[in-house]
Amino acid sequence: MIKLRACRVCKRVTEDLKCHGDTVLEWKGYLFILQPQKSLLAKRTGITTSDEYAIKVR
Ligand SMILES: [Zn+2]
Repeated sequence: MIKLRACRVCKRVTEDLKCHGDTVLEWKGYLFILQPQKSLLAKRTGITTSDEYAIKVR
């Protein structure tokens, strides 16, 4: 099983070691943003692209 990481800066869930900054294994919550233009949650978190995100990144 692949361990997913989350970017500390944009909170995107990824397998990469680097995104906008370091990615960490300690994250909680899973958020899938499909239509950021229509999502209130996306607006609140500042997400503009459809992707997978972590809710909390340590
Ligand atoms: Zn990032």
